[in-house]
Parts: sequence; structure tokens; C-alpha cells
Amino acid sequence: MNTTKSPPWFAGRRVLVVGLARSGTAAARLLLKYGANVRAIDRRRRDEISGDAADLERRGMEARYATMDPSALEGRDLVVASPGVPADLPLFVEAERRGIPIAPEIELGFAVAKAPTVAVTGTNGKSTTVELLGAMGRNAGRKTEVLGNIGTALSERAEEVPEDGFLVVEVSSFQLELCTRFRPRVGVILNVTPDHLDRHGTIDRYAEIKVKMFANQTAEDFRVQPLGDPRLTRLLQPMRSHPIWFGFADPTADGVWESEGSIRYRVAGREGTLMRRDEALLQGPHNTENLCAATAAAMALGVPARAVVKTLREFRGLPHRLALVAEVEGVRYVNDSKATNVDALRRALESFDSPIVLIAGGRDKDGDFASIAPLVRERVRQAVYVGEATSKLEQAWPRVPSVRAKTLEDAVQLARTHATAGGVVLLSPGCASFDMFRNFEERGARFEAAVLELKRSLTRAKR
Ligand code: ADP
Repeated sequence: MNTTKSPPWFAGRRVLVVGLARSGTAAARLLLKYGANVRAIDRRRRDEISGDAADLERRGMEARYATMDPSALEGRDLVVASPGVPADLPLFVEAERRGIPIAPEIELGFAVAKAPTVAVTGTNGKSTTVELLGAMGRNAGRKTEVLGNIGTALSERAEEVPEDGFLVVEVSSFQLELCTRFRPRVGVILNVTPDHLDRHGTIDRYAEIKVKMFANQTAEDFRVQPLGDPRLTRLLQPMRSHPIWFGFADPTADGVWESEGSIRYRVAGREGTLMRRDEALLQGPHNTENLCAATAAAMALGVPARAVVKTLREFRGLPHRLALVAEVEGVRYVNDSKATNVDALRRALESFDSPIVLIAGGRDKDGDFASIAPLVRERVRQAVYVGEATSKLEQAWPRVPSVRAKTLEDAVQLARTHATAGGVVLLSPGCASFDMFRNFEERGARFEAAVLELKRSLTRAKR
């Protein structure tokens, strides 16, 4: 929490804001408000950038478009990085060489926040967990905003939320890499599994960046961390914050966990059984982890158990994450387009007891698909591959019956011919979408359209 009577640390500085999309614009606006001298730079042309930048120029911001030339660092004593720009930009390298500090956008927002901040990071489950926390806060009658990576920048809304509200922030590793001041009241780390290794190198390095979120916390703050992850346990051991564990066993310390079909808690002096696991709408063991983690964070902030329970009974999950599209001929069609890495795909397969026809593939991010081959063999009766990763998947899972599809629409048709009543057709690609689609949302929407079209055509045929 921050009682901003004195001006924030960036007031009056000579700043270069890198990237002028929504977050960069919000950062620039905040900087101008506190009397900073602002220059901004973007690789796009002026006419490709939204009208907000023009408004800021009228208020005194100097803008440089269609360039990333390091000469923009001239006369600057602070660089602010938007979440969208890569941390290894030559401009940042040059800033470091000149000894100019670089702050992530999120730290500006944090500096003017009045409400306590809950920050969430991890490889998978962030969006689901922050939305759960948002709903828990609102169900407790507190003004709660869900910000950061998920959509609106922290610097855009941080000041609007009063002291008795909550700021829930999804934080990407790109932002964490640059953090030096960020200190959430509650930090949640969900998991660290291989993803983005093309960028971060080793998983140890990737995990080290993620735990930076806890580096400035003190004994009054909380960290919510998974049971049974030795790497994270070791990396978090030296942190000063109070740990709250989540998972599938009684941690004997503070925690929220599932045991014998019930969700149990022991947080900040409160202890008991929250509810039965099957009263919560979110399915699958990975969602047990997400909902335990969200519950732990909410209870650490004093959210009453009944607000948590109400949320878990009502929260249906987000689109493109194991979302039921329709039931056709007794087969459930499930859209998990957001599964863009191997662990998310693994978790999807673990979420169903019935036979699965799996639609997978897309742009590979150096995923180790062979590591889940036994699970795929056990759960998948037929695989349908689409996109660039097709031959890699065929090699990784040689004993799984498979066919190739040219398009996602073909894949749905082929999947139908292999599915039987009581089964599941699951789109859980395990890969990025960029080989054939703009993003995972477009891929998911195309899948849903194809399923609904299939359903319509069968209904017509029956008449
Ligand atoms: P993020 O915002 O971190 O990408 P999402 O909530 O959007 O997380 O979920 C991304 C994908 O990962 C989805 O396919 C989802 O089903 C899966 N997933 C969600 N939570 C977890 C978890 N705790 N562990 C592994 N996979 C998960």
C-alpha cells in the first residue's frame, strides 16, 4: 500500500517512455500529471498510433515516431518500458551502458496506488486467477480492479481505486525482469513450467525472473506459493514475506488446499473447511490450484469466507480456457485454445475422465511433447493435427492414432467421425496460434463457429 502524500519517486524526472500503445500512453499521462518532462518513442508511424498520443503532445509530451534510435536517450534520467516492448531492445542496452535506470510501466502505477495490490504471476492460470480475485473482492463489497497484462495498464487505473479497495494485477515476466521497486501486499506465484524458453534460455533463469516479484516484500506482506515444487520452494526460501501454501496436502503451515473432496484453509489465524470441491464450477485439478491460490490471497487481505464461497459457486471460467462450446450427438466440444504450451495441454487432458479426441498443433515454441506421451496415450483415443507442428507431434506421440487436417474446420469434421457419445472433442493445441491465426482468440472463435455450424447442419438434416 502507498499513502501518496509526498510526490511519487518519478515526479519531475526527465523521462523517455518506450512504446506508445495503451500502457505507454497511460504511463506518459501519469508522468505529465506529476510534472515529469516526457519524451516518448514508438517504432510505429504517427498515423498508426491512437489519438491519445496527440492529446498528450498537446499537453507537452515530445513524441518521436517510426524510430527506436538510441539518440532519444539524450538528456534523459529515466526510461520507462511499456509491457509490449521486448526487454532486450538495443535502446535498453544503450540506456544501461549510459547508466540511465529503466523502470517498467507497472512501477509508475504502483507508486500512486492507494489500495493494496495483489500481484499474480506464473506460466499458466494467471488470467483465471486474477479474474477470480476480482470477483472475490467485489463480492466482499470492495471496489476491485483487475489490471496489468490482462488488459488495462496499472498506471491507467491505479489512482482510481480507494484505500479500502483492491488492485489485482497480472504481471508478465517481461515486466518483472525490470522491477526494482514493486512490492505487492500479496504476491501469488502459480507455477513455473517450460514456456518462452526461446526467450529466457533455461527454466531456472525463467523462474528467477518470476520470483523477483517477491524481492521487495517484508514480513507484513504475503506470498502465495505452490506445494510440491522444489525449485520454487528453494528460490522463495530467502524471501521475507509470510508464506501461504496451496495444493493437494495439508501444508501444516498457513495454506489453502484440497483434501478428501473439500477445500480447507488456514490463513491469518482463520481455519476451517470452506466448501466441497465439486460445489465450485471450475473443472480440473489445475483449476483446484488456481482457486486455492486465489482463496489464499483473498483471505490474506481479509475477504470473508462467504464472499469466497459465493464467487467459487458462480465463477464459470474464461472463454477459450476449457470452455464447453456445445454438445453434439452426445459429444462435448471443448475450446481450450488458450493452451499454448505443453503444461496447459497436459492439464486439459487431466481434466476429463471420458475418451478424448484431441485437436492439437500450431506454432511450436520448442515444446517437449514427448514428456507427456504416456498421458496422451492413456487419455486420447484419436488425435487430429493441424498447423506447423504436425510432424513434430506425430514423432512425439508415435503410438497415438492420428490424422492430419488442413484447416481447423477440417479438424472439427474429422474429429466428429472419431468421437463417440459420452466422449469429448478437445481443442487444446499446446502451441501458439500464429501459424494460421492472428491470436488464440481468433483460433478459439473459429473452432466454436465450426462446432456450432456442425450442430446446425445436423439439426437441419434431422428435420
Ligand atoms: P494465463 O493468463 O497464465 O495464460 P489462463 O488462465 O489464461 O492463464 O490459462 C491458460 C491455459 O492454461 C488454459 O489452457 C488453461 O486451461 C491452462 N491452465 C489454467 N490454469 C492452469 C494451471 N494452474 N496450471 C496449468 N495450466 C493451467
